[in-house]
Amino acid sequence: MDNTQNLNFLEEIIESDLKSGKCESIITRFPPEPNGYLHIGHAKSICLNFGLAKKYKGRTNLRFDDTNPVKEDIEYVDSIKEDIKWLGFEWASENYASDYFEQLYEWALVLIKKGLAYVDDQSLEEIRLNRGTIQSPGKDSPYRNRSIEENTDLFQRMRAGEFEDGEKILRAKINMAHSNMHMRDPILYRIVHAEHHRTGNKWCIYPMYDYAHGQSDSIEKITHSICTLEFDIHRPLYDWFIEQLGIFPSHQYEFARLNLSYTVMSKRKLLQLVKEGYVRSWDDPRMPTISGFRRRGYTPESIRNFCDNIGVAKRDNLIDYSRLEFALREDLNKRADRVMAVLNPVKLIIDNYEGEELLDAINNPEDESKGSRQISFSDTLFIEREDFMENPPNKFFRLAIGKEVRLRYAYFVTCTHIEKDEQGNITAIHCTYDPLSKGGNSPDGRKVKGTIHWVNAKNCLDAEVRLFDRLFTEETPDKTDEEGKTFLDYINPYSLQILTECKLEKSLSQAKHLNKYQFERLGYFSVDYDSTPERLVFNRACTLKDSWTKQQS
Ligand code: ATP
Ligand code: MG
Repeated sequence: MDNTQNLNFLEEIIESDLKSGKCESIITRFPPEPNGYLHIGHAKSICLNFGLAKKYKGRTNLRFDDTNPVKEDIEYVDSIKEDIKWLGFEWASENYASDYFEQLYEWALVLIKKGLAYVDDQSLEEIRLNRGTIQSPGKDSPYRNRSIEENTDLFQRMRAGEFEDGEKILRAKINMAHSNMHMRDPILYRIVHAEHHRTGNKWCIYPMYDYAHGQSDSIEKITHSICTLEFDIHRPLYDWFIEQLGIFPSHQYEFARLNLSYTVMSKRKLLQLVKEGYVRSWDDPRMPTISGFRRRGYTPESIRNFCDNIGVAKRDNLIDYSRLEFALREDLNKRADRVMAVLNPVKLIIDNYEGEELLDAINNPEDESKGSRQISFSDTLFIEREDFMENPPNKFFRLAIGKEVRLRYAYFVTCTHIEKDEQGNITAIHCTYDPLSKGGNSPDGRKVKGTIHWVNAKNCLDAEVRLFDRLFTEETPDKTDEEGKTFLDYINPYSLQILTECKLEKSLSQAKHLNKYQFERLGYFSVDYDSTPERLVFNRACTLKDSWTKQQS
């Protein structure tokens, strides 16, 4: 493995660490805070952490960063585990930062004893004001020089529950004039009288992220602690704790977070979309959550391929949503069976046809082993309303009066006349067929340009089909926060379209939740959780081509 040409910077670091003997094998971790469902950005982090460990025969732990009892919940823990498994990864061990609370507390006492931590009585507001700015140094707290004995006593009493929330906090004693604001006596512990989803009421002091994270890495002997770029300014503090405590030297490495166009990714914002009813749920198919993508019809393979293809960057960038759809199309093109479905039906009556017959249809032209199926045909079919025009322009190659088209897998038909209701809506299209064109083959070399799909009106299923568009109209709805607007001002009011009169070929009667198909000419579709054998419900995962990019240009 000494071909360094195609390695990303993390792989380069790991290969060099393994070579130099800095570590024997690697251990990575994925550290979600259980305060929401995982999104596609987390998928990137998961693929990276698990992917690196797999490549270098190491291990990856799942560690819940559950240090904030107020926002966290077991529902999120469960959903996170389900999503990681669904993506196809297995963690070596399932850990919780809360399992380390006792050890973290002991280490805080060690820091106090070394004169490196103190209990501060200032309010959070005072602490913030006294931190100074990037240009100016902060002010020492009046409590900064408490004795080791007093600090030890106060911290033990903080744990014992003698104080109210916010009355006291524990801070590291580093340097209030440090050029890195994170090193200006950062907060280690705060008092929060709240029930924790795992430790219950055992604790009323909780460690801050910076204090808990590196030490948790160290406890687990994580060799490469990979996180997103915004944590690079936390790294000196990460290293400081490890050095002062003299514990296993985990190292932090930062990569650019995944930003995806036309969506938001902060859990806080996603929670707001759910709570305020802009979407139905965390797994609404329009959500950028892993569960949303799953429900929409994405496959784990497509998401993994997407994450691999976008690579690992050191600088922030915006990835176009269409790359995700590209990865899905590529995967489903190989795997999804083709079927015929009509979303916006109108009747097509073949006046010179009698009876009913079964015709051969290929399941997947990309995969011969999928074979073929039989679809039923009669004199009354449904076709898409859009496939007929009364006054067609020149380049309209579908059905019009006097024009001939091919019905997929069936026959050539020529339109003769139409029927309308009193309002002028077309209620039926009449045609005649050429019996010699069976299978859609030309009997005499004459060409028809258009091929349209259909289902047999006398033998089909009713279904609801949900079509989706981008959830936001703005490429970067987050950035607009700066202009006095919020991301909510850019919600696309037309992101969901529900079609209730769809007709599907009979072969779909056994379709199970999350089964995926290509509806010929219409896109890739997946069975929604709302679907029942009596009433099928499909989601469109994506169209067959990238219509969005075209629409924009
Ligand atoms: P959010 O801001 O969406 O709430 P977070 O970073 O607070 O996300 P965590 O649960 O703390 O969410 O994240 C778990 C891991 O996933 C962290 O290592 C974090 O760096 C990583 N991660 C989060 N968002 C992204 C992203 N957009 N791209 C890549 N990695 C991400
Ligand atoms: Mg976080």
